[in-house]
Amino acid sequence: MADSDEDYIATDDEEIGAHNISKSGRHRGAGGAAATGGSGARSKNGSKPGGGAQKRERWEDIKRSWDNVVEGEDGSLSSTVAGLLEAGKRKRLLKDTTPLQRGIIRHLILILDLSSAMMEKDFRPTRYLLSLRYACDFVREYFEQNPISQLGVLGMRDGLAVRISDLSGNPVDHIEAIGKLRLDEGKGAPSLQNALEMSRAALFHAPSHGTREVVIVFGALLSSDPGDIHQTISHLVEDKIRVSVVGLSAQVAVCRELCKRTNAGDEGVYGVALDDKHFRELLLDTTIPPVTRSAKMSASSLLMMGFPSRMVEKTASLCACHSTLTKGGYLCSRCSTKVCALPMECPACGLTLILSTHLARSYHHLFPLKNWVEVPWKAASKSTHCYACQIPFPHPPAKPEELSAPAKTATGTSVSSRYACTICHNHFCIDCDVFCHETLYNCPACQSSVPKGRISNGARGRSDPMEVG
Ligand SMILES: [Zn+2]
Ligand SMILES: [Zn+2]
Ligand SMILES: [Zn+2]
Ligand SMILES: [Zn+2]
Repeated sequence: MADSDEDYIATDDEEIGAHNISKSGRHRGAGGAAATGGSGARSKNGSKPGGGAQKRERWEDIKRSWDNVVEGEDGSLSSTVAGLLEAGKRKRLLKDTTPLQRGIIRHLILILDLSSAMMEKDFRPTRYLLSLRYACDFVREYFEQNPISQLGVLGMRDGLAVRISDLSGNPVDHIEAIGKLRLDEGKGAPSLQNALEMSRAALFHAPSHGTREVVIVFGALLSSDPGDIHQTISHLVEDKIRVSVVGLSAQVAVCRELCKRTNAGDEGVYGVALDDKHFRELLLDTTIPPVTRSAKMSASSLLMMGFPSRMVEKTASLCACHSTLTKGGYLCSRCSTKVCALPMECPACGLTLILSTHLARSYHHLFPLKNWVEVPWKAASKSTHCYACQIPFPHPPAKPEELSAPAKTATGTSVSSRYACTICHNHFCIDCDVFCHETLYNCPACQSSVPKGRISNGARGRSDPMEVG
């Protein structure tokens, strides 16, 4: 055992010498020296100059979560921990709120890696089970954010692409199909090319007004393909299919190229998960509708849609979508075919059938609520309580020099714990800030006050409440 340890350190040092990696080398070298108790390794590392100019990868910087915890004035950690929590919430909130044209009618194929690489236990309990759980979360969030979109799920197992669920707008079907995979386990090598070709075939009939996307969860470091994958990538570019990848082990060159070429040079859609939380974040980030780039897609076109209302029947009748007996459902507004759930494409005439609430739920992507700003102590005396939840705010400090502190602290939180809406200038706490931006997508203060100019402007002021936010 000791021998093998020493062997390992020797190769490690060679590697460090060859690449001249400064910081990680020191960390690894120090660990090795401690394990063997030898001073040789340490002196070797000490003689190496730090390659500061060299660009370091993210994984080379080791961050310890306990490094930024410092004792508060009262000697406890509670104030620091509360501050860290607030900083985390704030960081999550600060998104780009520029209104952009986005494709809210999406057609997306989720590809799951079901190969033997997914049996690794670096994500608990295994990569396989964790990715299935997050895939279910993804499906729920996807339909919450994109109610008028379609989703399909594929898997990569044993060099083949397997169909898990077909392209449809019903989240229950997908979650059931993914749930059944739990009994199985990862097997063989994945084939990116087979899976991409199958997604291409599935997205072939997607109408031109919608987006075509593929999201891949990729745990392996290889792809076992029957042909030239670069040709497949070229076909994907021709078909305007965008691919984003969430890696679980390390960056893979072909995935990087795949993302870059199918997203007009944007590599931001390829992420490698650092831990399970990051994995979830990366996967759920893809539920936000993509920005439209091509002029053809940005050109406005009219799309026919039906808005049927729910009807209740005394006797059960067959629905056209599943051929099952149901009491009640929705009748297509064009051909009166009965379907049991919305949104759906009418099986008889192909009309898109949705509820108006589905459209309203997609609305906030196009007109996002603006980020709220930190309030300096000088302006803080205006409020004593959060406008929304009435939680009391801390009082402004007595010392004048503290009063002139900048509004934003080093961690990005507000110095006075207040956040102000830029339109109505009311103050909110961080929790209400998070709730309004992530769930409500509206400012409660703006919604509850009618701007003066609007009252005289009868019809517009009454029927257009969304425009205020
Ligand atoms: Zn049905
Ligand atoms: Zn119809
Ligand atoms: Zn509040
Ligand atoms: Zn407001």
